[in-house]
Amino acid sequence: MFDLSEEQKILLRNLKRVVKEKVGPAAAETDKTGAINWEIVSLFWDLGLLQIMLPPEYDGWPHNPSHTLCLSIEEIAKACASSALLLIIQAVGGYPLIFAGNDAQKKKYCPMISDQRNLIGYLVTEPGAGSDVQAIQCTAKRSGDDFILNGRKVFATNGSIAGIYSVLARTGDKELSFFLVERRLKGISIGRIEDKCGFRGSNTAEVILEDVVVPRASLIGKPGEGFKIAMGDFDMSRPAVAALSLGLAEGALDYTIEYARERHTFGKPLIQHQAIQFLLADASTLIEASRGLMERAALAFDSGEKNTKLASMAKYFCSDAAMKITTDMVQVLGGYGYIRDYPIERMFRDAKLTQIFEGANQIQRMIIGREISRR
Ligand SMILES: Cc1cc2nc3c(=O)[nH]c(=O)nc-3n(C[C@H](O)[C@H](O)[C@H](O)COP(=O)(O)OP(=O)(O)OC[C@H]3O[C@@H](n4cnc5c(N)ncnc54)[C@H](O)[C@@H]3O)c2cc1C
Repeated sequence: MFDLSEEQKILLRNLKRVVKEKVGPAAAETDKTGAINWEIVSLFWDLGLLQIMLPPEYDGWPHNPSHTLCLSIEEIAKACASSALLLIIQAVGGYPLIFAGNDAQKKKYCPMISDQRNLIGYLVTEPGAGSDVQAIQCTAKRSGDDFILNGRKVFATNGSIAGIYSVLARTGDKELSFFLVERRLKGISIGRIEDKCGFRGSNTAEVILEDVVVPRASLIGKPGEGFKIAMGDFDMSRPAVAALSLGLAEGALDYTIEYARERHTFGKPLIQHQAIQFLLADASTLIEASRGLMERAALAFDSGEKNTKLASMAKYFCSDAAMKITTDMVQVLGGYGYIRDYPIERMFRDAKLTQIFEGANQIQRMIIGREISRR
């Protein structure tokens, strides 16, 4: 919708090929086994997709990184939402370092990502703190030149396969702070691996921190800046979840249109029935509207414009649209839409998560309401 640079066009052309040849054909199996497809992870590193948000000197994307991230996520999610989520969590987990870290931290950790190909986990959610980030109980206590971390983080995407974590912990009564924590440190263990309804090809794990000693140099920004950093991260991640939702919806619609052309009922192709055309028309319209919001929110982030309201609008609109569209596409396929042999069933299960994570859609509406009432 918005003009693409030559570099973006080349990236998307290569990505389309990889999605067609590798990601798409593996999607059903990845969903079935729940195992991480390391060949795909490796391909994404080769294409530079897991480095997009890094500073350019560490292989990051020099112009409009958020827009490029979103377009890449959309392309992958058309075929496999679990694979697309790899890009989101890498960007979300990297945000504290990239946007609030100091030069020494970037010099140490960015090569661990770009050269050593470490995935990054984002450890914020806890059993008693999901939507309410301020309720976090994980503690980071000063001990000489170190901090000692204790707590239990849940629902961490890539939690058991990441090499580095961004951990939000309480450094004082009213103070939350981010720490960069290497997975190899003593005191870190993996708890439950979640058995999920959708995104079954994505790793979701509990990470337990018991007396984990981290040097003061791992603290991002100043003590107490953690909440502000987490909120800034959402301005980048919510357009990305919008892109994930959009890709899912497009994949579902494209598949269904082809199906409706082939399938005949009452002597004509399904697609010739007006009731079916209406469902497809609604889906196409929602997709066009979703694309506009998603791209605007991502480009606003890239230009440094305050995009909190737009990011929440894009996140909730696109994910609600994806849920409606995938539900309707199951309907168009009838009984076959409910059967695992058809990709629509997986897309329908995957779509539900987009309404829940990176701030559930009720929270997005609260944020939009708050931003409007401020004016
Ligand atoms: C597969 C998966 C992957 C995830 N990955 C990560 C990750 O990598 N890192 C991470 O930190 N977290 C992750 N999460 C956590 C996710 O962000 C949270 O689940 C989400 O923020 C909601 O928190 P909650 O589940 O505790 O729900 P709750 O906060 O308990 O909310 C329950 C419901 O109540 C609604 N609600 C809550 N408060 C209000 C209110 N004031 N007004 C109106 N409605 C309200 C919510 O919208 C929601 O619908 C992941 C979750 C899942 C399922």
